[in-house]
Amino acid sequence: MKTVSNDRKRIAIIGAGPGGLTLALILQRHGIQPVVYEREPHDMSSERGGSLDIHEESGQKALKEAGVYEKFQEIVRYEGEDFRVMDKSGKIYIDEITEQDAKGERPEIDRGVLCDLLLGALDTDCIKYGYKLDRAVSMDNGMTELHFENGSTDTVHLLIGADGAFSRVRPLLSDVKAEYSGLTMVELNVLNAAEDHPDLAEFNRLGKMFALGDHKGILGQFNGDGRIKVYASFEAERDWLETCGIPFDQPAEAKRRLLEMFNDWDDTLKNYFRYAEDAVLPRRIYMLPVGFKWKRNAGVTLIGDAAHVMSPFAGEGVNLAMLDALELALSIVQHNNLAQAIEAYEEKMYEYSSEKARESYDNLKLIFSDDAAAKLSNLMNQYHEQYSQQ
Ligand SMILES: Cc1cc2nc3c(=O)[nH]c(=O)nc-3n(C[C@H](O)[C@H](O)[C@H](O)COP(=O)(O)OP(=O)(O)OC[C@H]3O[C@@H](n4cnc5c(N)ncnc54)[C@H](O)[C@@H]3O)c2cc1C
Repeated sequence: MKTVSNDRKRIAIIGAGPGGLTLALILQRHGIQPVVYEREPHDMSSERGGSLDIHEESGQKALKEAGVYEKFQEIVRYEGEDFRVMDKSGKIYIDEITEQDAKGERPEIDRGVLCDLLLGALDTDCIKYGYKLDRAVSMDNGMTELHFENGSTDTVHLLIGADGAFSRVRPLLSDVKAEYSGLTMVELNVLNAAEDHPDLAEFNRLGKMFALGDHKGILGQFNGDGRIKVYASFEAERDWLETCGIPFDQPAEAKRRLLEMFNDWDDTLKNYFRYAEDAVLPRRIYMLPVGFKWKRNAGVTLIGDAAHVMSPFAGEGVNLAMLDALELALSIVQHNNLAQAIEAYEEKMYEYSSEKARESYDNLKLIFSDDAAAKLSNLMNQYHEQYSQQ
């Protein structure tokens, strides 16, 4: 068969989330033009996600390679690193306040703002919006045929699934599905917190607040648009959302029922529910098995949540997605043979992602165990001690 160099091969990325966009941008900077298929319409203004902390050794490293690090520094929120942990009575165990003008290693940016930053540098002609992948089929010649719900098809040399937890690319590589982790989170929003609810804004500070107890949590996270995203979090059976009888499409009633569930919690903590406006969104948290690997395919691979979705308690989801994008892009650039490029990327990715998946699983168990606030405080102290000795 006639060989075609990587910059001439047809490469499709499914998903224009942080992982897919970072990958497309780094490839473009190396003269490789992929096509990106995204299921959402071009205007994704409705729900684009909350604040994410971007780590120096992974997310920021990828942004440097993507050529947008300077712009990132202009818009990122270093003050978003404030972190408080308390128990259900409001007793404080951790109270980290970022000093003014201090530049930590994990500044915050809203998911939508991060995507806009990447889109601003990308030649966006490569993105096809409104293309939801229905299924992908391996062909005898090693290429992969893509079928979209809008009736379109494409045939590509390399298919990269950057399509999140419920990837439609993953079934080509494995029968393993993301499983319910046992944790359900109900998302609420306190809008314009500083202006409309200054008492709660001061209590939460500019970063994250975790109140933990009784195998439950109230988590508050300041976002760049002035809202506090609130997550009522608890262990629940998989079908709890269907059986609990809470009408999540009626926010006032849903809030009343959540207040009942947290009835004996500190009154200030209950303000996170009382002050919430807007929709109430329940979500089950899913994860792939720790150490998940798939059968190698010379023309198909996965990055980000599609490869290793995990609970949010290692804060790694977006960072790993961008690190995967960086590693895969450089591997494609460095190897003329796609099979070798995929092998080199996957071996490296399995190693660092499984370590983070283990950490995320252990944190999930710890955060919803007895005396969780005290245990989390001990863990953070150990981490700080280790870090200061390095
Ligand atoms: C709307 C949204 C909000 C989020 N909010 C938060 C948050 O507040 N905090 C947090 O820690 N994490 C959040 N996450 C998860 C976090 O963004 C991911 O862990 C991280 O960004 C991993 O990035 P990714 O690019 O691998 O996947 P994702 O960010 O999940 O992006 C996947 C992309 O693929 C697209 N897609 C999915 N299926 C298909 C298909 N069949 N065909 C075509 N396109 C498809 C999706 O529309 C999306 O654009 C959110 C994810 C989403 C999608």
